[in-house]
Amino acid sequence: MAVRTPFLAGNWKMNLDHLQAVAFVQKLNWSLKDASHENGTVEVGIFPPFTDLRSVQTLIDADRIAFSLGAQDVSVHDRGAYTGEVSGEFLAKLRVTYVIVGHSERREYHHESDDIVAEKVRAALRHGLVPVVCVGETAEDLEEFGASAVPVAQLEKALAGVPADADIVVAYEPVWAIGSGQAATPDQAQEVCAKLREVVAATMGEDAAARTRILYGGSVKSGNIASYMREPDVDGALVGGASIVVDEFSAIIRYQKHVGV
Ligand code: PEP
Repeated sequence: MAVRTPFLAGNWKMNLDHLQAVAFVQKLNWSLKDASHENGTVEVGIFPPFTDLRSVQTLIDADRIAFSLGAQDVSVHDRGAYTGEVSGEFLAKLRVTYVIVGHSERREYHHESDDIVAEKVRAALRHGLVPVVCVGETAEDLEEFGASAVPVAQLEKALAGVPADADIVVAYEPVWAIGSGQAATPDQAQEVCAKLREVVAATMGEDAAARTRILYGGSVKSGNIASYMREPDVDGALVGGASIVVDEFSAIIRYQKHVGV
């Protein structure tokens, strides 16, 4: 059985400029040190806006801070006349490890279809980046099809043709839970994450399913993180609002200590 290191990933969305980002990362690091957090028990990922990446990468390299760096999006193209797009090649040069693909805000506000999401997964993998593939149902989908049908279909499309040895992360983010304060119950999260693991098994094989981390996202806070982390198929969280509050994100990262899991 593969050991899946818990992954606590902070999606800052369009918050914190590069100066605020540097101050935030330093404070988060100090907060974890003050609390005697043991690096390595979990993986901490931060996903700042593109304009912050260089500053944050320089800081975490210079101060040997044990955070992984991620971007919030990637172009389907590698380079060329695509104004405003950011290539996976450039992200890889910045030593970015992860990239969020298919976040519901990109699907909704930028009309990213399942085909575009699938292309972005391939673009990330082409450049050695680990895609954090986001899937999730809207409130209407939930009502009409139940919780798992839409995320399962989205993941099947995103992973079609992805090789068995690819390193990916999946994030189950019910759209109705994002930023709403109305989190899914741990049971709901577990049920859908288990189905998503079956999709990884069917498309990439059993080994991939055993090693791939599946995160829950949607109104995760320090007060509810532990309840998700007890679930066998939930390997971490993609955290939005609470990831830009130092004390909150620090407490989320230290969930093993403060709730005695
Ligand atoms: C997100 O945007 O990925 C997210 C989960 O947001 P929040 O934690 O604020 O619900």
